[in-house]
Amino acid sequence: MKVFYDKDANLSIVQGCTVAIIGYGSQGHAHANNLKESGVSVVVGLRAGSASEEKVREAGIEVAGIGEATAAADIVMVLAPDEHQSALYAEQIEPNLRQGATLAFAHGFNIHFEQIRPREDLDVIMIAPKGPGHLVRSTYKQGGGVPTLIAVFQDASGKARETALSYASANGGGRAGIIETTFRDETETDLFGEQAVLCGGVTALIEAGFETLIEAGYEPEMAYFECLHELKLIVDLIYEGGISNMNYSVSNTAEYGGLTRGSRVVGDQAREAMKKILADVQSGEFAREWVKENASGAEHLRQLREASQGQSIEKVGAQLRDMMPWIREQRLVDRSRN
Ligand code: NAD
Ligand code: MG
Ligand code: MG
Repeated sequence: MKVFYDKDANLSIVQGCTVAIIGYGSQGHAHANNLKESGVSVVVGLRAGSASEEKVREAGIEVAGIGEATAAADIVMVLAPDEHQSALYAEQIEPNLRQGATLAFAHGFNIHFEQIRPREDLDVIMIAPKGPGHLVRSTYKQGGGVPTLIAVFQDASGKARETALSYASANGGGRAGIIETTFRDETETDLFGEQAVLCGGVTALIEAGFETLIEAGYEPEMAYFECLHELKLIVDLIYEGGISNMNYSVSNTAEYGGLTRGSRVVGDQAREAMKKILADVQSGEFAREWVKENASGAEHLRQLREASQGQSIEKVGAQLRDMMPWIREQRLVDRSRN
């Protein structure tokens, strides 16, 4: 697999463009600030009365309505929530998009599952940093970046790929490595990863471990440290040097216990469940469910979110983190700013 770096990208392409960033959330704030500091002319497009407006002004970035920002731009990067992009595109973006403009996404969901069918005169590209927006911003500020996927869905100009590389480089991706993929592969692997491993699988593992200790009569504080807090230390070791790096660092007792017991927890049953989850992603079953959930007001999501926030692991965690003020000082998420 070929990896591209800053030296392979022509930064001046995006520096010669006006880029509209639609939405100023996790990814939006990161792209807008990173691009601006890379010498790109940026305008952030927001809904009227958006709570983000003040944050954008404070960052010294131009802000406009979504239609107005779109009309001013050579490149429009859509960083509103996936579930709102289809309506937003039909109502406010497409009618204002210049002929021959570039339409960009950070995730392939709406294009791959045909929730957005872009006009033929447009270049349609993806620049998808493989990390949360807050990390995309913090690594850039430190002089680094987050590995980034790029893809081309539609190449009306014949230059779509060069534009994607240029944008990825301005966003810091070229410092870490840029990999070319397709909308389909990005969408399917991203959805599978967040469901089976990152957001779904790991969370369920933490909760199950925590509850097992609580049910056996151990103190919640102890259960929290063992099953959640220490996970960061383990993940940092794996992130830095792989699984063998982690095993080198932990005790031989921990290594032996882990090697002999891990697959009892995540065994054949979990692998079968993963295959089913992947099949539902590939068939579009998950996409249909998610589109339907939003069409009916996302009530199920609201209930799930509320139940998750009310769990005892979250309450214990909030108290324990108050005892560790350094965690807050180094926090990635500051809801008042990003
Ligand atoms: P987000 O929920 O953090 O932010 C979305 C922003 O869009 C809001 O802050 C607001 O400014 C605006 N917005 C909200 N509702 C809107 C509406 N109805 N109409 C118009 N604007 C609205 O979103 P995000 O997590 O940054 O996701 C943006 C895109 O980036 C998605 O396509 C997502 O899949 C992709 N992505 C996100 C991450 C991540 O770290 N969160 C990582 C990779 C890719
Ligand atoms: Mg995702
Ligand atoms: Mg231990």
